[in-house]
Amino acid sequence: MEIVKTKISLQALLQPHRSSKLRIALVPTMGALHNGHIALISHAKQLADVVVCSIFVNPTQFNDPKDLEKYPRPIEQDIMMLREAGCDILFYPNVDEMYGQNEQWHLDLGGLDNVLEGLHRPGHFQGVTQIVKKLFDAVRPDVACFGQKDFQQYKVVEHMVNQLQIPLALEMCPTVREPEGLAMSSRNVRLTELGRKQALALYRTLQHVKADVRRQNLVTLREEAIKSLENSPGVRLEYFAIYDADTFTEADNSAPDRPLIALVAAWVDGVRLIDNLLLQ
Ligand code: AMP
Repeated sequence: MEIVKTKISLQALLQPHRSSKLRIALVPTMGALHNGHIALISHAKQLADVVVCSIFVNPTQFNDPKDLEKYPRPIEQDIMMLREAGCDILFYPNVDEMYGQNEQWHLDLGGLDNVLEGLHRPGHFQGVTQIVKKLFDAVRPDVACFGQKDFQQYKVVEHMVNQLQIPLALEMCPTVREPEGLAMSSRNVRLTELGRKQALALYRTLQHVKADVRRQNLVTLREEAIKSLENSPGVRLEYFAIYDADTFTEADNSAPDRPLIALVAAWVDGVRLIDNLLLQ
């Protein structure tokens, strides 16, 4: 695996592949890799000849400076995992490589940034689109892979790709979970053993909602899920919602055939966790 820190050296590495018409895939990450990230690399390898993984802890998407500061950065371990997974190129730039002084960015996200994650993390999706656009420009991939774990992020990136007509394909890969069901996340290392157990309430509630979605109306389902999470020890609920997975607006009982997704965000052990489940 080649490791490059600048856009120029990345371009030089990719140029011969591009000339040979090889397909290039990008997997953007913030590092502290786990099997969820590795599943994206494996999927990317099936779709392309050359897989680029980026590791960049993007400051503009953190609305909480403490979260940025505490974000884990085990780069040596990440490199080992990427080599083992058969990644071809690691793009590992520093902040100055990606951002100019006082750079401004605003993209109309069609309201996607006013709900759920967008509402609770002001500016987050502007930061996400800002860095993802820069990574797309630097790599010019044929395909880019993202995880369903961050479903709203996927919708936001999809919106940007359509709006700016960026010529690439997007792939969404299923959420990888720990054996007990907790969605893998780089932030899970900050959970205590007890917190890990308490955090299981998120997935358990999502599964109950999925099991009952045909039997109950959505308002009741949501209310019960909220009640159950609010009564779960160690869990501080931020939101629980049932959305139309296509339009990413609140789901409506009167349209039973729409694709539905339940989404949750909650704090456990001072760690903010998100999860979701497609209901059909
Ligand atoms: P992050 O490093 O958290 O920014 O995530 C990088 C990519 O990995 C994003 O597309 C995430 O959606 C994806 N990802 C994170 N956790 C998981 C998981 N448990 N399963 C599948 N994909 C994931």
